[in-house]
Amino acid sequence: MIEQLYPRLEINAAHLKENIETVVRKCAARGVSVTGVVKGMTGDIECCRLYVDSGCTMIGTSRLDQLEAIREDGIDLPTMLIRIPMLSHADEVVRLADYSLNSEVRVLEALNKAALRRGKSHKVILMSDLGDLREGFWDKEELVRVAVCVEREMPGLELAGVGTNLGCYGSIQATPDKLAELVATAEAVEEMIGRRLEIISGGATSTYLRILDGNISERINHLRIGELILNARDLEFFYGADLSDMHKDVFTLKAEIIEVKDKPTYPQGEIGVDAFGRTQEYTDRGIRRRAIAAIGKVDYSDFDDLFPKDKGIEIIGASSDHTILDIEDAEREIRVGDILDFGIDYASLVFLSNCRDVRHVIV
Ligand SMILES: *Cc1c(COP(=O)(O)O)cnc(C)c1O
Repeated sequence: MIEQLYPRLEINAAHLKENIETVVRKCAARGVSVTGVVKGMTGDIECCRLYVDSGCTMIGTSRLDQLEAIREDGIDLPTMLIRIPMLSHADEVVRLADYSLNSEVRVLEALNKAALRRGKSHKVILMSDLGDLREGFWDKEELVRVAVCVEREMPGLELAGVGTNLGCYGSIQATPDKLAELVATAEAVEEMIGRRLEIISGGATSTYLRILDGNISERINHLRIGELILNARDLEFFYGADLSDMHKDVFTLKAEIIEVKDKPTYPQGEIGVDAFGRTQEYTDRGIRRRAIAAIGKVDYSDFDDLFPKDKGIEIIGASSDHTILDIEDAEREIRVGDILDFGIDYASLVFLSNCRDVRHVIV
């Protein structure tokens, strides 16, 4: 095994923990409990441990292998599978998740059978699609009918509640009227089954804006929060929210410099296509000092999602394994073997944390 010191993803445990606690506290003040969603950092187990005793009532992720690792580690929190289950995974879902989000009757039937076989009760939340057009029942009456069916005819399942997901595919915001639609559907279910639902799950990070604005419906009592805790960037960057009480530096990427040279900025010769078959534009800025970092698109996907921490350094391009930096205006001398720090956003975090060549280091 080659010892791999760099690239590395440094995880500030104290800041992550404080972010969890801040979000839990602010949500609790509005009667909302929080499932900590850990798919953004590929369920890094040391990060997951920080969700225990942080006030989160559950830990959730989209992938069963991550839930399995959480279980095997002995993390003592109820688990939630947040991607609607594959039919072929019904048995594993019941084994590994206490709760799952659902939108298909055939899957619910399979979960019911699996739960009965295992002598376990599995809790389900039925998803309502309010216009974002990813998962969920589109027809609200159908959702109510299926809820009644789960309640009365699926003894292996417990109808825990209803939920929605917004701001993922259709970019639809969690406005008060959308959440009112969800509450109305939940109340229609309650009317039919003659009891209150345990959970009305109002969405993810994007619904936190309603917590900040103080206009979340009082019947919404649960959110599934990933990005806000891990990165705390999107709501401020895209919606101008005040996240001054959140740490934005939980994750830092560190990469090693493998070449430093003065080179022309305009390629020399006949221009064709780049490593990925794309036609690129180049601006001639004369000879400038450049560095190459030993990390590339294979690790983070898109270099627009990396932010060099050194002032005066700019990423000018990348291929699979190389990231090219303009360091002409850098405030310090950059040499071969130096380590550069980068801030990252959620888009690069999902790749970097899932890349086996990137070491995770808790600091
Ligand atoms: C990813 C996901 C979340 C968490 O989303 P964030 O925007 O990261 O908070 C919540 N619910 C579902 C269904 C998801 O897929």
